[in-house]
Amino acid sequence: MSAPVHVVLVYQSLLGIYGDQGNAMVLRRRLEWRDIPCRLSIVEPGDPLPDDAQVYLLGGGEDGAQVTAVRTLVADGGLHRAVDRGAAVFAVCAGYQIMGNRFTIGADDEVVEGLGLLDVSTTRGANRAVGEILTRWEGRTGDDALLTGFENHGGHTQLGPSAKPLARVEVGVGNCGDGTEGAVNGKVIGTYPHGPVLARNPALADHVLELALEQELAPLVSPEITELRRQRIAAVRR
Ligand code: GLN
Repeated sequence: MSAPVHVVLVYQSLLGIYGDQGNAMVLRRRLEWRDIPCRLSIVEPGDPLPDDAQVYLLGGGEDGAQVTAVRTLVADGGLHRAVDRGAAVFAVCAGYQIMGNRFTIGADDEVVEGLGLLDVSTTRGANRAVGEILTRWEGRTGDDALLTGFENHGGHTQLGPSAKPLARVEVGVGNCGDGTEGAVNGKVIGTYPHGPVLARNPALADHVLELALEQELAPLVSPEITELRRQRIAAVRR
């Protein structure tokens, strides 16, 4: 049997309040359904980020936790090494903002430097974006191109010149109300939806795995998930 695919869930105590750890469970399950072994590491601040993983996952978190997380990640340096080595990073909400160049935080709009792995920057929006979001994945067609989730963020994110959006918004706010959602740079993906978003969108989960493994994966057919997706998409469009 080949070495397990190593998935790292980054800083659960800081970036774990929105249930985005479910993304790790989904990746593990989808590997196991294909008889590919998976090792999941949950890394907390103070522990070095492992240097041998194929996928790093970051989730949403509150403002203060987000600042601690980014400062700890900058000091650790492991995410930059991982990206240089060709690992995939999938980051949600606060995790997405952290991957950008900078974000502002608090009533005084303190500017906090991000990791600079995505050419985006985030500032406080006039209104908090809260609710179901439905987007259309860039460059994809068919039912899998529809991405569903739940957004909950005060920060509004602007794409820089070298950032490509992950998707276009059909319902909801997304990055900043400009019609774009998320950002992609090579194998680094940032996005706002919780859900967990990889549970709601198995094609996106498989895309993250395919980026990480640099191989195509056989499709998995799961009629219950297809039916749940149909219901959610119909509900958000109503
Ligand atoms: N603190 C960030 C914001 O409100 C991220 C929130 C989140 O992760 N849900 O924009």
